[in-house]
Amino acid sequence: MTAEKPRVRFAPSPTGDLHVGNARTALFNYLFARHHGGEFILRVEDTDSVRTSTDSERRILEDLAWLAIDWDEGPGRGGAKGPYHQRERLDLYSHYLKILIQAGCVYPCYCTEKELEAERAELIFRKMMPRYMGKCRNLNDSERKNLADQGREPAYRFRIGTESIAFTDLIRGAMKFDAGAIGDFIIVRSNGIPAYNFAVVVDDYLMSISHVIRGEDHLSNTALQLLIYRALGFKPPVFAHHALILGKDRSKLSKRHGSVTVREFRERGILPEVLLNYLALLGSSLGGGREVCALEEMITSFSLDRAGKSGAIFDEDKLKWLNGIYIRQGDLHSLTERLLPFIRAAGYHKVDTLDRVWLERVIDAVRGDLSTLSDIGDQMDIFFDDRYVLSGEAQRLLGKEQALTVVRALQEGLEHPPLSADNSYRRIIEIVKRKTGVTGKNLFMPIRAVVTGRIRGPELDKVFAILSPASLKHRVETAISGLSGINR
Ligand code: GLU
Repeated sequence: MTAEKPRVRFAPSPTGDLHVGNARTALFNYLFARHHGGEFILRVEDTDSVRTSTDSERRILEDLAWLAIDWDEGPGRGGAKGPYHQRERLDLYSHYLKILIQAGCVYPCYCTEKELEAERAELIFRKMMPRYMGKCRNLNDSERKNLADQGREPAYRFRIGTESIAFTDLIRGAMKFDAGAIGDFIIVRSNGIPAYNFAVVVDDYLMSISHVIRGEDHLSNTALQLLIYRALGFKPPVFAHHALILGKDRSKLSKRHGSVTVREFRERGILPEVLLNYLALLGSSLGGGREVCALEEMITSFSLDRAGKSGAIFDEDKLKWLNGIYIRQGDLHSLTERLLPFIRAAGYHKVDTLDRVWLERVIDAVRGDLSTLSDIGDQMDIFFDDRYVLSGEAQRLLGKEQALTVVRALQEGLEHPPLSADNSYRRIIEIVKRKTGVTGKNLFMPIRAVVTGRIRGPELDKVFAILSPASLKHRVETAISGLSGINR
């Protein structure tokens, strides 16, 4: 790498929510910049007036901020090489278009969409590769005037030569393209809006981008962009094309594979640092099979080579597994804060009125069973009497004679006040054990079932410490009256 500090960019097109694949590209650029002490630029590629929306842009910026991928220059930050929206850079593209026209590298093309469509169909019919065959390539001035007089607005096409295009990709090594196989391509449309390949060259050059790190789906674009760099006499940046994220069937990850946007994972309760951790290590690991990695460490250990060499399968179960680890290990206080919106969404509208210390104990008791933040509602239901229900499994378990004996003994044990001491759980278990002679699973399972309504859940001593004595008694009584009915 050059001695100068690198400048890299992430250049989203605001045509929808941020895809995890694009978030990964943003992350790679961000980590590369931070690792080398360079700059990370955000540029909004909003020239497509039909598909672009300001709402998408807002949501993409929000998602990047949520992931804590912050940019040094770009929207909201400014910078010396702005503006950072392509729509505000149209004069710059016009300027370089003129230079290319004067140099004879670009020519006006008057073909209509219909004519081009017919040409494409004809080539496909003749089993030839569809591309522009150069109808307007060698028009003379009077032919051009004639077409313009018909009211046709020209698009501008880049005149392709026969030279080969070669470059060294930082991830993929030596790359070579045959220019002869590419038709003259449009760099400015008839409505005056630059095509992606042209705008991106002008911008990357003027923004002094040193490294272009993007998905390998852009490789064929890179060939075209290199031709434009050459024609303009610009030194091209270094390119690094990383492999894409794949679905379980090894095709490019898309909607049909399930959730694919950052927003979806955010709304389902994946933590931002987990999504970053997962995307950074997807397809690789820190060595020694270690998978949990904080941002600082990702920056220190970042290597483009390791990051993007081979296509990696997006495994949602693994993402959730990693999320569970963070939920279990994180600071309880901030976990509680992050859970609040999910608790509200689960119908606990008055969660703010709950005693915070009690709520944190509840969260601490159940966090081992959460793989996403949105699991919280279901898990904490067991601590609220109005949500207490005996599940089918619990009813079946309690339907056995011995289980009912245990529950009756528990009821008696609960009659021995006070229950406030820390050891109350142990004391009660001792009483039930003594009274019934039942031990182990046969003792604990009926107690769990009757107290929580479920056969799986948090440690029983935590449950006893959180539920009030009145609540415990109420549950046991309700269950016994219900079960006596069943057993009669
Ligand atoms: N706007 C392009 C995209 O979203 C950027 C590609 C590039 O990085 O050059 O795919």
